[in-house]
Amino acid sequence: MSIKSKLNIKRSNTDMNSGSQSGDVIDKLPDINLSPPSNFSGAFEESIDRRTFIKSSAVFSLAAACPLLISPDRVFAQNFPEETKKFIIEARYYEKLEHKKIRCKLCPRECVIDDRERGYCGVRENREGTYYTLVYARPCTYHVDPVEKKPLFHFHPGSLAFSIATAGCNVNCKFCQNWQISQVRPEKVRSIYMPPKDVARLASEYQCVSIAYTYSEPVVFYEYMEDTVVAGHEKNVKSVVITAGYISQKPLIELCKKVDAIKVDLKAFSEKYYREIVNGELKPVLDGLITMRKMGVWTEIVYLVVPTLNDSDDEFKGVSRWIKKYLGSDIPVHFTRFHPQYLLKNLPPTPLKTLERAKEIADAEGLNYVYIGNVPGHPAENTYCPKCGKVLIERIGFTIKKLNLQNGCCKYCKHEIPGLWGI
Ligand code: SF4
Repeated sequence: MSIKSKLNIKRSNTDMNSGSQSGDVIDKLPDINLSPPSNFSGAFEESIDRRTFIKSSAVFSLAAACPLLISPDRVFAQNFPEETKKFIIEARYYEKLEHKKIRCKLCPRECVIDDRERGYCGVRENREGTYYTLVYARPCTYHVDPVEKKPLFHFHPGSLAFSIATAGCNVNCKFCQNWQISQVRPEKVRSIYMPPKDVARLASEYQCVSIAYTYSEPVVFYEYMEDTVVAGHEKNVKSVVITAGYISQKPLIELCKKVDAIKVDLKAFSEKYYREIVNGELKPVLDGLITMRKMGVWTEIVYLVVPTLNDSDDEFKGVSRWIKKYLGSDIPVHFTRFHPQYLLKNLPPTPLKTLERAKEIADAEGLNYVYIGNVPGHPAENTYCPKCGKVLIERIGFTIKKLNLQNGCCKYCKHEIPGLWGI
């Protein structure tokens, strides 16, 4: 039976994509400079039509509350109006073709795009044979999160990450939990103007160790991310990328030279799943993971376990063996619980037993740091020393309860634990 036949799949009318999983939810942002109104819960206005949008905009008095928010007359603009020009710069990875067409070289989809058309991700547009990103300095959500929420477990435990996202995504996961922003074009969400220097300044003011590019898919706001990484480093703030890893090698290599850590959602270990559930491809993601390790950027993997679709023993064994062989035993792997939402509401949450089985198999295959995610209080949220077996980092949900590391080593047996600890 095909995977699709097990599902009740309906495509959204936006014909767009999905974003990151793994417990990355969008919460309310504390009041800060540049903050949207207090009823802004971190996100978006899913517009159905212009009238609806104008009406709701009037209710919230957005323009009065924050002049930086996009006003209705900027929405649905067909040409780059003066007001939106600050969000638009030339894209960095594309080639010009005949008849004013272009080929985007940012992700393996390699969209070929006619003049006045956009790529699959909906946030890049061809104008007269020049390709532009429409989401530079245009976050539609931002929030201060614990880095454990990303999740990154071997990266400055207990630290904060100033988290940003723009609209758009280059894949289309049927289980996306942030589909309200990943599945829409930038004109359909409320956004603010937040150039890289402002992101860095805010991250620093909020004592965030890192800036996280997250919630939707940072590959599609690559230029903004790349410049923000540089601005962050000037302020001593690191950068972590939360991604599906569906990116072409050249931009990935450049990114790896700059960023401090990457968390990849490895959605499954089968091309079929990637084709039918993600609308992407597995191989470029695996190739990307190998590149990340070769380039020495700290990397962790999340595998969202979806009942009946990617939860067989064979698949757990296959993915664990591949990880050990090509990435090594020390890369952290998080098997996380699926919750029914978006287009997979017909499936149950992942049974705990399935997650424990996944961990058992990965442990048996020789991976040293296998976690269970989205199950607060489970012992497999903790980091254990692979040599002496003692608890090194005790966690409950996103909270660190105990830290038994010294200079990146087990405080009991002095075994070195891989990661960027900052302690
Ligand atoms: S980044 Fe967007 S436009 Fe470029 S190839 Fe990927 S989906 Fe297409």
